[in-house]
This record gives sequence, C-alpha cells and structure tokens, in this order.
Amino acid sequence: MNPFTFERALDAAQAVRLGALSGSKYLGGGTNLVDLMRENVEQPQALVDVTGLSDSIQELADGGLMIGAAVKNTALAEHLAVRRRYPLLARAIAAGASGQIRNMATVGGNILQRTRCTYFYDTQGARCNKRVPGQGCDAIDGANRMHALLGASNSCVATHPSDMCVALAAIDAFVHLDGEGGARRIPFTDLHRLPGQQPHIDTTMRPGELITAIELAPLGFAAHSTYRKVRDRASYAFALVSVAAALELDNGVVKDVRLALGGVAHKPWRAHLLEAALRGRPATFEHFEAAAGAELAPAVALRDNGFKIELARRAIVAVLGSLSAAPAVPPPGRA
Ligand code: SF4
Repeated sequence: MNPFTFERALDAAQAVRLGALSGSKYLGGGTNLVDLMRENVEQPQALVDVTGLSDSIQELADGGLMIGAAVKNTALAEHLAVRRRYPLLARAIAAGASGQIRNMATVGGNILQRTRCTYFYDTQGARCNKRVPGQGCDAIDGANRMHALLGASNSCVATHPSDMCVALAAIDAFVHLDGEGGARRIPFTDLHRLPGQQPHIDTTMRPGELITAIELAPLGFAAHSTYRKVRDRASYAFALVSVAAALELDNGVVKDVRLALGGVAHKPWRAHLLEAALRGRPATFEHFEAAAGAELAPAVALRDNGFKIELARRAIVAVLGSLSAAPAVPPPGRA
C-alpha cells in the first residue's frame, strides 16, 4: 500500500475543497475502498473522510425523503418511512453484504463501490481495461459466470455490485452532487455509465465531485414493491440476478410499473422496455413473460453466463406475480 494523507472534512464545502486536490479520494465507511487500496487497485495520495457529513433522513414537503450521503446502510434499511413507503429499498439494502458491512457502509460509498470482477482485483496476473485502460479484458474469454448480459462492450463486461442501487434506479431517485462547479441534482439512472470504450470511468460525476444526498421522489405505489436477489448462497454473496419492482394495479390491469435489474449490466439496469410493454395490460403470467422477454431480447451471453437470461426472466415473472397475486408459474401445459 502506498503512503497517503488522511483528513476529516467537517462540512461539504471543506470536503469539496480537499477532494479537488489531485490524487484525493473520498472515504465513506471504507468497506470497498480500503480493500481496493490493499490490493493496489486504488492508490490515492490523500483520503478525505466524509463520514462526518449529513447522516440525516428528512421528510420533504412533497412527500419524498432526503437521505444524507453519510447515512449508514443499516440505518436506511431500518428507517420506518423507508420500510413503509419504499419497501423495495429496505429489502435491497438488507440483501446486501453482511450485517457488519451494512453497519459501516454509507449511502454514498455504496453507490460508488466498484465492480467485483475478479480480474479487476488481480493486479498481479490479469489484464483489465477498467484498472489499466487499453490493457485488455481477461473476463471476456475467461471465467465470466457473474458478468454482464446487457449493455456490455468489447472493452468490459463487468457488472455493478450494489443491491441498493437497483432499488434506487427503479424508483426514479435523484442524486445531489457538490463540486467546484457548484451543486447539481441528476436522475439516479444517469449517474452510472455503461462501459463503452472507457470502462475505467464508472460514473458521470465530474472530477472532485461529492455525493451529498439521495432524494426519493414521492411515488405512492412504491409502497407496493419488493426486491428479490438470486445468488449462490443465502448471505454475503453478490447477485447473479436481482429484481426491484413496484406495481400499481387497477382492476387487474397494470396502471403503472417500475422495474430494475441487478447483476446483469455495468450499471443498475432500468427495464424501460418491460415497463412500456406492461402498462395498460392485464396483470397475467403471459404478459409478464412477454414483457420480460422484450427487456431481455438484446441480452448477449458470454461463455459461462447464458443461464442468467432464463434466470432473469423467471425472477422478473416471479416478482411481478408476487406483487399482483397472479400465478408466478406457467399455466398448465406451458414449460
Ligand atoms: Fe476488467 Fe471489466 Fe474486463 Fe473485468 S470485465 S477484467 S473489470 S475490463
């Protein structure tokens, strides 16, 4: 590990000032960045501790919530308003990592955690365009069971590891950012990038920008929502596929729906094709299956991860079925 300086920011203005210095990194709970430093994937010259910034969860006049970036994952998942009004978010956070990690990890840090592609962490023997631009990608022809199906490129097929972010993508959250150019607010779905030819750039944040808060817009039917994570073991495992969904029904017809997928792309994957296919349709197994098929039609399988296409289809249908009380299994005679 390289030597680095450490400074604790007392407020966002000081954090932004320190974060603008070359070689600086913001440090939240440290549950990913410290690992990356130990493995020499990240070599910051200065750490700016931002855990002393806002850790409050405030009610907004419009019925939404403002969540400080330093709120711990456990506190957010246990907050009564979150559990009642955005249960998919509470469940997604509780499905992530372990209890100890959730107690340490902050909202801002969760959002900015980096991929868990094993080649990305292998600084001794693996080629990785995300770690060393232009080096190549050993995952494309390597062990890629956990890798992306949608939105990948010939430079990178990594997936985003967060569960919380899948829920935030589904419910049209906003991210509040602060930097030398001033404060701004962007849709959460615009924060993370697809890899393209620059997989080393994870987000659309400007150099030195800091996440200060997440805003949850009021979304009445988000109270009727859930998160399902399919993984290799029941705890402390990243998603093979996950589904965050909220469903609004009117006499058995889909009035509105929000759905995002995890474990399938370089960013939390908002299922716009599925949503468009379902609005105004009866909430039936056949329509859920057809909408899932529309979303997954562009999926491209690698050597080891083709099974995730069918897994995602089934997970989507099962989640929508559980939210609508429609049968989540095929009708008799269907495979
Ligand atoms: Fe690196 Fe992305 Fe390839 Fe993994 S998939 S080795 S992170 S370039």
